[in-house]
Amino acid sequence: MPHPLTFHQTLPKAAMPTASTWPVEDVLDLFELPFNTLLFRAQEAHRAHFPEGDIELSTLISLKTGGCTEDCGYCSQSVHHDTSVRASKMLSPEVVLEAARKAKANGATRFCMGASGRSPNDRDMEKYEAIVRSVKALGLETCVTLGMLRDDQAKRLKEAGLDYYNHNLDTSPTHYNHITSTHSYQDRLDTLGRVRKAGLKICCGGIVGMGESRRQRAELISQLANLNPYPESVPINHLVPIEGTPLADVSPLDPLEFVRTIAVARIVMPEARVRMSAGRRELGDTVQALCFLAGANSIFYGDKLLTTDNAEAEDDRVLLEKLGLKTRQVTEVKARMPGLEDDHHEHSHAPLAG
Ligand code: SF4
Repeated sequence: MPHPLTFHQTLPKAAMPTASTWPVEDVLDLFELPFNTLLFRAQEAHRAHFPEGDIELSTLISLKTGGCTEDCGYCSQSVHHDTSVRASKMLSPEVVLEAARKAKANGATRFCMGASGRSPNDRDMEKYEAIVRSVKALGLETCVTLGMLRDDQAKRLKEAGLDYYNHNLDTSPTHYNHITSTHSYQDRLDTLGRVRKAGLKICCGGIVGMGESRRQRAELISQLANLNPYPESVPINHLVPIEGTPLADVSPLDPLEFVRTIAVARIVMPEARVRMSAGRRELGDTVQALCFLAGANSIFYGDKLLTTDNAEAEDDRVLLEKLGLKTRQVTEVKARMPGLEDDHHEHSHAPLAG
């Protein structure tokens, strides 16, 4: 059943589209271009806005895992699904800070922190603010994903020094009620509006391969591109089906369709960091290389995402080197790689929370 909300009627003011919007039909036309033409156009857009070979490295840590009352169909952290993930307490600030130091030493420029849950409670908010302050003091960009926010919470995070707030739209409005029943698409848009109002940058993308049609992928990209302004950071996840979740047995998406999604995102949001996120490892080097060609210029770097394995750091280094994507950060990583260790693997999960 289609989602009852319509985009133009329901967007909060802070997220109203501009005159230069991308209607779904126009985005769909891009999806349907011959593959080479699409990649050529994506390359043109990419090179017009970013230096060649400039890949952003971000590191992700889970501050609080599992036990979430929401029922997002892809997520292993929901109490509604029978997965192996168990609820954990919030990490101590010391552990987070140590992980941030290591991430910085290994070349990450942004430190992303996720916590499971519908929205942060007031007691946890103080802890999140303290963590943001201390990570920021290390000289890293900070990003958190904590679920839905009120105005005052967004403001407090901004005042603590937060740079980015991650809150994904996940999928198209017309597919959303097949994915989640405990909150609405409008709830997501409302939080994005509040985050913008507080002056934060937005990290917002989605997950493809959740049984949606190509048109629905175009709807998702259209929604993102029509945010005003569009997100600074756009993570595109490829579903990693997790046993025990409702999407465990969904038919896998053709990897070339994932590449197309990245290319379309690059064309319609030319100045955004388009991030290849969850599912990268499963796609293999060749598809990842095509994604870089299609305009992806950010990856999560490290051994794991929130709940799914990330490409091994060493594999990343080798791949980036093979492709000649030697950013300054990667050069630092290369020098330090032999000692790369992460004591907090067990706490790390996929960038899908919130
Ligand atoms: S994606 Fe976030 S809100 Fe949804 S179930 Fe997982 S942790 Fe909860």
